[in-house]
Amino acid sequence: DLSESGAVALDALERALGALQDAEHELGRLDAAAGDGDHGAGMVRGMGAAVEAARGGGGSAGQVLARAGMAFSGAAGGASGALYGAWISAIGQSLGDGEKPDASAVHRALDSSLASLRDIGKAKPGDKTMIDALDPFVRSFGEAVGGGALLDDAWRQALPAAEKGADSTADMISTRGRASKLGERSRGHKDPGAVSMLYVLRAAGDALPK
Ligand code: ADP
Ligand code: MG
Ligand code: MG
Repeated sequence: DLSESGAVALDALERALGALQDAEHELGRLDAAAGDGDHGAGMVRGMGAAVEAARGGGGSAGQVLARAGMAFSGAAGGASGALYGAWISAIGQSLGDGEKPDASAVHRALDSSLASLRDIGKAKPGDKTMIDALDPFVRSFGEAVGGGALLDDAWRQALPAAEKGADSTADMISTRGRASKLGERSRGHKDPGAVSMLYVLRAAGDALPK
């Protein structure tokens, strides 16, 4: 059976899936502007598989996310599939079998999974990728936690940084992934992966216990 934290993780993945389904066409259009147009479909496929995997077993939030991330990678395909899947699994591995992860445990998990993501994809802030939404979110979350905020408040306080980061990608030139082939022409549209990351973070925050 799912533990209490495992049920929260499943809820977060289900909300993320709903948000991605709502945004599937928007993400596809953004990706069509500088890539191959499949980002919306890939994210829905990946998160669908992640939800299936989360439902198909028990355990803590960490255990749920570890197997959901692997399912995501297998189903989503594309550059973002492998990266998102590895990121979700890394969050799970950091949380482990700990019950009721608190804000500091979640910060450690966000911090170390961001480091793995950067290590695998070699993208840094400013390269016009999902990192441009995630990195400022994790920093802002850490500041809120340092200031004593509880998990759901810290998450909410960090969301504007993710939004600002995703918006800022419109002015960037892509230097990683498929869109980097366009050079200067990749400017003028937000990065699809940064926008999907914002939606995933928003949806996940709605699942956190008050
Ligand atoms: P593909 O380009 O293989 O079709 P997607 O369209 O699903 O994959 O995903 C594209 C997104 O992946 C980009 O918008 C970007 O945010 C992200 N991305 C691509 N390469 C990297 C990388 N090396 N590091 C981080 N994110 C990346
Ligand atoms: Mg694509
Ligand atoms: Mg593709």
